[in-house]
Amino acid sequence: MSADEINAPPAIKARLAKLGLARRDDLVLHLPLRYEDETRVTLIADAPPGLPVQFEAEVLDVSVQFRPRRQLVARVADASGELTLRFLNFYGSQTKQLETARDNGRRLRIFGEVRHGFLGPEMVHPRYRPVDVDEALPQSLTPVYPTTAGISQNALRKLIGKALGEADLSELLNVRWCARHALPAFADAVSLLHAPPPGVPEAALQLRSHPAWRRIKFDEVLAQQLSLRRAYNARRQKGAPVLCASGQLAQQLLAALPFGLTAAQQRVAEEIATDLAQPYPMQRLLQGDVGSGKTIVAALAACQAIEAGYQAAFMAPTEILAEQHYLKLRMWLAPLGIEVAWLSGSLKKAAKQAMQLQAATSAQLVVGTHALIQEGVDFARLGLAIVDEQHRFGVAQRLELRRKGGNPHQLMMSATPIPRTLAMSYYADLDISILDELPPGRTPIKTKLVSDARRDEVIAGVRGAVTKGRQAYWVCPLIEESEKLQLQTALDTFAALSEELDDLRIGLVHGRLKADEKAAAMAAFAAGEIDVLVATTVIEVGVDVPNASLMVIEHAERFGLSQLHQLRGRVGRGAHDSVCVLLYQQPLSPTARARLKIVFENTDGFEIARQDLHLRGPGEFVGSRQSGVPLLRYADLEADADLVELARQMAEHLLRDDPERAERHLKRWLGCREELLKA
Ligand code: ADP
Ligand code: MG
Repeated sequence: MSADEINAPPAIKARLAKLGLARRDDLVLHLPLRYEDETRVTLIADAPPGLPVQFEAEVLDVSVQFRPRRQLVARVADASGELTLRFLNFYGSQTKQLETARDNGRRLRIFGEVRHGFLGPEMVHPRYRPVDVDEALPQSLTPVYPTTAGISQNALRKLIGKALGEADLSELLNVRWCARHALPAFADAVSLLHAPPPGVPEAALQLRSHPAWRRIKFDEVLAQQLSLRRAYNARRQKGAPVLCASGQLAQQLLAALPFGLTAAQQRVAEEIATDLAQPYPMQRLLQGDVGSGKTIVAALAACQAIEAGYQAAFMAPTEILAEQHYLKLRMWLAPLGIEVAWLSGSLKKAAKQAMQLQAATSAQLVVGTHALIQEGVDFARLGLAIVDEQHRFGVAQRLELRRKGGNPHQLMMSATPIPRTLAMSYYADLDISILDELPPGRTPIKTKLVSDARRDEVIAGVRGAVTKGRQAYWVCPLIEESEKLQLQTALDTFAALSEELDDLRIGLVHGRLKADEKAAAMAAFAAGEIDVLVATTVIEVGVDVPNASLMVIEHAERFGLSQLHQLRGRVGRGAHDSVCVLLYQQPLSPTARARLKIVFENTDGFEIARQDLHLRGPGEFVGSRQSGVPLLRYADLEADADLVELARQMAEHLLRDDPERAERHLKRWLGCREELLKA
């Protein structure tokens, strides 16, 4: 048994483990969900309905009644009035206990909520216990902890009380610094939160705005910052190829482009170029809204790697997107004499082997799906790994790519803008570049919210757009629960539209098509041979067909906000006026309406993401990161944004000047879970 282990019988320990409690430190940091006020006694006649209150009363009579169902009923009274206690589930011993109290005139202390029933005030399943006449009331609020079956609140309270006495609660932060930021000492904060002394304002405890809560939240965010920054520093200790180049190749590429870079693209391209010339690996996340032009920035980085004599890999999450990238990058780079190879899981065996060989030897840029990391590809001299739409890949896949071919520089790209506070906390192990500007000349997309009842008008709109020479996407309803149903819906939608628009050329792409079928459909759409493309969310990311100016999304209320924004970004890529129709099914719940309104009213992906974060919490954004990143239990990224900034500074300071304390802080908060993070 280690010194920090909880001293309890194995059965209890197993249940504690379910709550994530393995060490004394875990118990100390297992903080109350809320509090109950047992420090006061109210008169029955004064009890406000629906709020928890405490009475002291004598038992008048006890009976087991059978109407409407078997129940234990006790009538009690204090000086002000009478009250009925009702227990629908009870033990025989309880009946006895109440009868004894009645016979001996012993008082009960009763805690619960009063409701006014048919026969006057009553309490259902109150907590109660017999007390002596002079038994003092508790001095502090009673904590209520998150718990699990088989561990009572009382048991938890005792275990935690004991842990508070035994654990090491020593202060790890500079006391003067804490005072300056109105943060109490750690020991004081946990003691107060587990057993708030009289006089602590209850509201500040319940709302978690009390300085003691702020201290805990700060410590929690600090632990997260420390672990991520330490992982970042550790990766930086490893060497990486220095990608020094004159920039000639990049200049040639720029000269051949039909457009000039935006100021944001230039700035970000420079940030990346500087990173690539360092002797340690770049770990950079490039964020930019849909259509902000991330691909060219990545291509410029690839040029630098290639000119320096290394290979670059470009990985995308779907076949459709990977193939589009391949075609575009080849169009840009092949004229400069660069050998661009394509690798996907769906290639025939012989072709794949040939490609693997090419990737291993002569290819300078290899574009593909995650087949790039899966299928025995051994890069000869990988200098740069680019991951598009990185949030679509799991941590494991990204780690795998990092391990490929030594220790390449990494550029991760994402069009799901991550709100600033979220990026600062959950992505603290990455450097972040932001493309905050769209290329000029884009016509803003008009978004319309239309009830499904007006589907006919929408169909007429599709015909109108096609008559004007444009093309349209029709996105099928999302059915998350079942892939089979999703497919069926896509087939049904395709059949229905083919009938309703029988004079137009309708195409279909969905996730179950073979890769070459998907590619053929996309190519036909890009070439203008298809007027209306019926699609599932396989087109969500990256797809770029400038002549498509209309998008219809069916059952828009089923999609996530960022997902809708991504989908909408498939139109408005050319010079034409573009429209996105969000079709919704009546009746719309108030929340669904509020969510659609956000997409309707905002065109800025960051703002949408911020509101999405507000509505759904960080889990949706960091889902695929979770296995490696400690989630926050107490801190709220929106309400406690100032603490994130403070913790970031403190983490830097501790790691640099006091690594021993950093270590102890991490141990307190993460224990053995920290090992996971070093992977
Ligand atoms: P995303 O950031 O969503 O991946 P893309 O890289 O696909 O965006 O770029 C969207 C479109 O804008 C592409 O057709 C691309 O060639 C074009 N583009 C990129 N940068 C510029 C620019 N500076 N000026 C004009 N068009 C640009
Ligand atoms: Mg893209």
